[in-house]
Amino acid sequence: TILVTGATGNLGRLIVESLLERGAAPQSIIAGVRDVAKAADLKALGVSVAVVDYDQPATIAAALDGVDAVVLVSSSEVGRRVPQHQAVIDAAKAAGVTKFVYTSASQAPTSDLVLAPEHKATEELIAAAGLPAVILRNNWYTENYAADLARAAETGVLAAGAGEGRVASASRKDYAEAVAVVLLEDGHIGQAYELGGDVAWNYADLAAAIAEVTGRPVEYRALTPEEQSAALAAAGLDAGTVGFVVALDGGIRDGALADTDGTLARLIGRPTTPLVEGLRAIA
Ligand code: NDP
Repeated sequence: TILVTGATGNLGRLIVESLLERGAAPQSIIAGVRDVAKAADLKALGVSVAVVDYDQPATIAAALDGVDAVVLVSSSEVGRRVPQHQAVIDAAKAAGVTKFVYTSASQAPTSDLVLAPEHKATEELIAAAGLPAVILRNNWYTENYAADLARAAETGVLAAGAGEGRVASASRKDYAEAVAVVLLEDGHIGQAYELGGDVAWNYADLAAAIAEVTGRPVEYRALTPEEQSAALAAAGLDAGTVGFVVALDGGIRDGALADTDGTLARLIGRPTTPLVEGLRAIA
């Protein structure tokens, strides 16, 4: 039996669907959710649904009863993720799971990206627990650019602080399929895979891709950190969020998401979803 946490989230749902597409029996899948009211569509797929709330360890222990493999989809509550993930790791260790899959971030152990420290800490907790783990270090989702796409469709401008930095993004579905593959295939335990799209594009490429999708010219305006801070503050973002976004773009400018080696495509047995196609799906 496989437990997928965060199953009502975007990635979690796609993981459940990918498991089914790749031949897993519905009765072998437990969708772990914190709010059962949001899980009607999962139930309709024939899978079991169990409450897994990272902040309530008793729910995790109960859901893990009889479970062989766990996918911990990293929590969306940035800043609180380490204790939340620790609760799942502790419960998985106590339950004696035979495979533990974690969705981490690109080069988490060494990355300067502001999001990396919580993933690095989680990977360390998994190792310290001695779990039979598969670490999937996911690059960016193409879907992260939905707001940029919508804005550029209106203004004809893509403004960002990422300079000439490249991003090897892939669609969530690509990453979800990789989770299904490492769960359903034997082996993979002990591996940490760097997963990303086949192409590392820069923001001029992104502007061109948005232009292709929206049918209007789009110009990339590369902002300095100061210019980006001012623009985001003027758009009404609070200081914390402004600092976070500017730091993220700085990380991209410095190449934190630029590496790609085809591992994701190899795992899923097909090319990753091209940028234009991924954007078209969210336009
Ligand atoms: P979502 O926000 O759609 O899903 C996050 C999931 O985490 C949701 O199901 C949410 O539950 C669940 N969750 C949050 N807090 C708790 C909790 N206390 N207990 C149990 N479950 C909880 O994100 P995505 O599916 O798009 O992405 C998955 C993860 O990947 C994110 O959580 C984040 O860590 C990371 N990420 C990666 C990005 C990338 O580009 N690589 C970009 C963005 C995020 P609920 O459905 O009830 O809200």
